[in-house]
Amino acid sequence: MDETVSHIAAARKHLLANMHDACATSGRKAAHVTLVAVSKRQLEDRVDAALAAGQLVFGENQVAEAETRWQARKDNYPDLRLHLVGHLQSNKADRAVALFDVIETLDSIKLAKAIQKAAQNQGRMPEVFVQVNTGEEPQKSGVLPKELPEFLAQLRAQTHIQPAGLMCIPPQDEEPGLHFALLAKLANTHGLKQLSMGMSGDYETAIRFGATHVRVGTALFGERAY
Ligand SMILES: *Cc1c(COP(=O)(O)O)cnc(C)c1O
Repeated sequence: MDETVSHIAAARKHLLANMHDACATSGRKAAHVTLVAVSKRQLEDRVDAALAAGQLVFGENQVAEAETRWQARKDNYPDLRLHLVGHLQSNKADRAVALFDVIETLDSIKLAKAIQKAAQNQGRMPEVFVQVNTGEEPQKSGVLPKELPEFLAQLRAQTHIQPAGLMCIPPQDEEPGLHFALLAKLANTHGLKQLSMGMSGDYETAIRFGATHVRVGTALFGERAY
């Protein structure tokens, strides 16, 4: 077997086993947690290796890069599911709706309206998660925790979008568990079922706090290439 293929197949097996254990120790079903393989800035042969290993759910953080990578491949994988995990500008909503099955980074009513319009035009509505800036970091996008109730009310009042869940990226220098707990509490308060949280360094912690989607890049693919 090609070295990249066997390496990534082994890394994926290891990740899924760890996810399984984290579910077991927290009394959760492994089937309720999805591994989103974040393939941004990875070499194409590694992406193909993940596909060969059976991975069908991928995350990307840029629309243009995702188009280049996935438009050529997606017809060969009818069950492929693509998640947008990076910030989306309203003027790219059309392209995002055309490509992605899940947009995890809704953070403004303007963007929600653009997504809705694109979805109506294309007859295709991706699942939507609201990104929450749990660390209240000025450089990060996402709705502030204290503004979430009003944001969800406006979303209901001004669009037909029903968010599936919440997503967060904790500050790098803080205990991620605090942020995962906050996101889980917010989702519970608002009756939202899905929680996208946890990356290579903290996906097991995220699962213990209720993650339904973990977004893992380097622990699966290795260091990003560019
Ligand atoms: C890059 C990225 C990831 C994956 O990060 P790793 O540390 O490589 O696992 C997860 N989520 C988002 C939003 C990202 O941009």
